[in-house]
Amino acid sequence: MDTILVSNRVAEPSRTGAVPGGLAAVLLSAVKTSGATWVGASGKFAPAEEARMPTHSKKLGAGTLTTVDFPVTDYRRFYNGMANSALWPILHYRADLLRYEPEFVASYRVINEIMANVVADRAGPDTLVWVHDYHYFMLGEFLRQRGFTGPIGFFLHTPFPTKSVLICLPEHRTVLKALSAYDLIGFQTDEDLLRFRDYAITKLSATMVGQTELQFGDRRVKLGIFPVGINVEFFAEAARENIDSNKSNRIKRGLHHGKLVIGVDRLDYSKGLPERFAAYERFLTIYPDERKRVSFLQITPPTRSAVESYRRIRAELASHAGDINARFGDVDWMVLRYINESFPPDQLAALYRISKVGCVTPLRDGMNLVAKEYIASQDPEDPGVLVLSKFAGAAKELNAALVVNPYDIGELAQALYRALYMERAERIERWSAMMKTLRGGNIVRWYEGFIDTLRESAVSPAPVASRSVA
Ligand code: UDP
Repeated sequence: MDTILVSNRVAEPSRTGAVPGGLAAVLLSAVKTSGATWVGASGKFAPAEEARMPTHSKKLGAGTLTTVDFPVTDYRRFYNGMANSALWPILHYRADLLRYEPEFVASYRVINEIMANVVADRAGPDTLVWVHDYHYFMLGEFLRQRGFTGPIGFFLHTPFPTKSVLICLPEHRTVLKALSAYDLIGFQTDEDLLRFRDYAITKLSATMVGQTELQFGDRRVKLGIFPVGINVEFFAEAARENIDSNKSNRIKRGLHHGKLVIGVDRLDYSKGLPERFAAYERFLTIYPDERKRVSFLQITPPTRSAVESYRRIRAELASHAGDINARFGDVDWMVLRYINESFPPDQLAALYRISKVGCVTPLRDGMNLVAKEYIASQDPEDPGVLVLSKFAGAAKELNAALVVNPYDIGELAQALYRALYMERAERIERWSAMMKTLRGGNIVRWYEGFIDTLRESAVSPAPVASRSVA
């Protein structure tokens, strides 16, 4: 059975051979080894009036990468509008940041339809289709309308919010009812699955069939939990190999034997960066002796800068970082290095390894791969400590981290101190437990687990649950 994967963003290996991060990294390695076709946006535009949009295909290992040019106006309304100004804030519980215009959902449909045409043109009767993330909630429905009867799965990488937040989105029913066209819908955590089930029953008139299936009219949809993993060995090895790179050595020298705390996040309001900076400030205030012993490295590549809420948070963080350095810095000590630049994963691995503390404190996050990468990159003999938000999906698996409420600035400041002074034996014990979990749920298993469950769902009307939920 051949496989088509769909995600909005696609990635290619960089010239250095390093793989990109996030979802793109996950799919890239799967496509290269499994021979699947991966379809996504090209980032180029075509005139709106074309019946079939231009596509570009090339080999990617054993697989194929196909990208699509979209009409510019629809794509911007779809991407900056529906995806990043409406769906993203709602999925991350930020109804206050929701911006909605009726043309957003109209263009969302257009882009989902174009993508459905591209997939339908490439799919045979035996093809399995796996759609990724909130950009393409409606793709399955359009694919069914084009006569496709094979298995279609959907995986949501973000959280699924509680229904009282979700219903703030105008047209939420139009967009989410379309999920009934899928055979399998995957979530990062049991809580996301339960919130979706509750929403589907109360707002979309679905009925429950056992604990992990829903009936929508004549369609039966299976639900499953598939926490996304990372390539554990890549980070472990890259950290070992790059620990003495020029960049790592420069940073180590700059620390004058002090301790490094690291944060790595896209510049996004869901990542809890203002709260994290405030907690660091609180830490430096309560523990003045730490001022020349600790340095914070916050790597934050800007994203989605066409969206107003992202421009605002960028300005807020730059000013906050400046204030912290002005207040606590010294001629011979950099209190906070705040960098708006993207680093390749192999360099990140080394930076994770030289950092005594990994600070991962999103206000909401579907999973958070950085938390997993930090653990995978540690020295087994002398691992650092992960401070992790309880609102990251990763906290379900990485519960041996110092789990914090990111809104509680005082608790976060105390957790930083505790992490910096944790005894080696306790660090090793916590790290070993988390590393074991990561190895058990690495990326290959995640990919194969979803595909296998989707295949079974399409064959049997009442397939076995991937994991049980309450
Ligand atoms: N990342 C990267 N370079 C950077 C910053 C981040 O490659 O400078 C990667 C990081 O290693 C991780 C991904 O981007 O794999 C971020 O994924 P995560 O789940 O933490 O958050 P998301 O950005 O998907 O919300």
